[in-house]
Amino acid sequence: MDMRQALHRLSAAGVVLQAIGDRLTVESKEELTEQQRAWIRAHKTELLQLLTDDDREAVREMVTERAAILEYDGGLDRQEAEQIAHGAAQDYYNHLMGVGKATGCCYAPRGRLCPEGQRLRDIYVQAVEAAPRGR
Ligand SMILES: [Zn+2]
Repeated sequence: MDMRQALHRLSAAGVVLQAIGDRLTVESKEELTEQQRAWIRAHKTELLQLLTDDDREAVREMVTERAAILEYDGGLDRQEAEQIAHGAAQDYYNHLMGVGKATGCCYAPRGRLCPEGQRLRDIYVQAVEAAPRGR
């Protein structure tokens, strides 16, 4: 079975895997079956890699979510808009990819932010709103 499909099945069964630093954490409403446990153990390295890729993608989306607003409302081209959004999101990005990934205080794929993450996000949103517009 495809790894991503398998992850999907687990999550549909209420089992949520998360990569925190180089550890894999498992949250589940019900106790895992022996089979699930064995599968997770056997694929730990691949799962960590996959989850970390997903996290990176989710963080990228979170820090550029405002780029589209700049692009369409601000009359900037895509590249310009992303550049501005990225620049404004630097601290936010560093928090999500640094402390956030190491401790799990913020978890981008689920849109969960700690108070510090939330504060940095607000700063980022305000900076994007104050950014110069093309038209
Ligand atoms: Zn955080």
